[in-house]
Amino acid sequence: MKIKEIIANRKTTVSFEVFPPKQWDKIEKTKAVVDEMAKSKPAFMSVTYGAAGTTSGFTSEIAREIMEQGITPLAHLTCLTSTREKIRSVVNGMAADGVENILALRGDIPEGFEFPDDQYYEHAYQLIEEIHSLGDFCVGGACYPEVHPESPNRVEDIAHLKEKVDCGLDFLTSQMFFDNNVFYNFRELCAVKGIDVPIVAGIMPIVTASTLNRTVKLSGCSLPVKFEKIVERFGDDNDAMKQAGIIYASEQIIDLMANGVNNFHIYSMNKPDVAARIVDCISEIIDG
Ligand code: FAD
Repeated sequence: MKIKEIIANRKTTVSFEVFPPKQWDKIEKTKAVVDEMAKSKPAFMSVTYGAAGTTSGFTSEIAREIMEQGITPLAHLTCLTSTREKIRSVVNGMAADGVENILALRGDIPEGFEFPDDQYYEHAYQLIEEIHSLGDFCVGGACYPEVHPESPNRVEDIAHLKEKVDCGLDFLTSQMFFDNNVFYNFRELCAVKGIDVPIVAGIMPIVTASTLNRTVKLSGCSLPVKFEKIVERFGDDNDAMKQAGIIYASEQIIDLMANGVNNFHIYSMNKPDVAARIVDCISEIIDG
């Protein structure tokens, strides 16, 4: 099923994310993660694409496993370091597997990378056009409530986002954020600029202090004082930090729902128990 239809037909959606392993011998372990997560009945499950596209086969294998669990998969695809020929072959392979939903991304720029020639893609909008030329896909894209780290300013970032949406995006998924006001301001700006596709709010449960250092700081997201205090107090106690992170993420979702947001993507980081506990915390609230 297409994700734009799932979003249109349900009052609310909660989706999860899985990342594929770096080595093939770990694939069964990741499939077990998918099977466990599927028990929480997410509206769909996304599977990330390894940096530089080196493990595209792994993404497809995990997408097939998601389908086998009766859940709609969303396959991520990055384009920056792949030729057009390679991308066409990956997209055609996805179509052959029955994958209908692709999150079209540029990918991060590797250190020292120089854009080779026009056989490559410079920005995600070119990938979006390519995917649509290859079949009847539902295509999503990324957006950044706190501005993409490479962007000189918000004005340029939002202008490029509008161009990207106009190339044929069916929905956006946001980068993680920890202060809901950041999302509300971004949503308002999108409305002013005529960006009218659904924006799925990206929620990252911080369950260890090391996740905070590794993932959040790299993404350039800001942390509200309230959250910094939580990490300061509980960061050294694994169980306490996990519980606090799950509750913080759940509270974020409750506040977002109260303010009219209906679609949530949990960056579940291959942790089925965390995903399940968040769903449990909001089970009476999310009635999608
Ligand atoms: P773009 O939309 O191309 O934007 C990148 C930058 O270029 C922005 O600053 C934008 O303002 C600017 N820009 C856009 N168009 C133009 C233009 N025409 N002219 C000049 N500037 C322009 N990475 C992975 O490797 N694998 C994943 O699976 C993955 N999943 C992700 C999922 C989500 C929800 C998010 C938010 C990010 C994900 N990423 C992933 C990271 C992503 O690849 C990086 O953030 C990347 O740096 C930007 O990708 P993009 O698709 O947003 O690029």
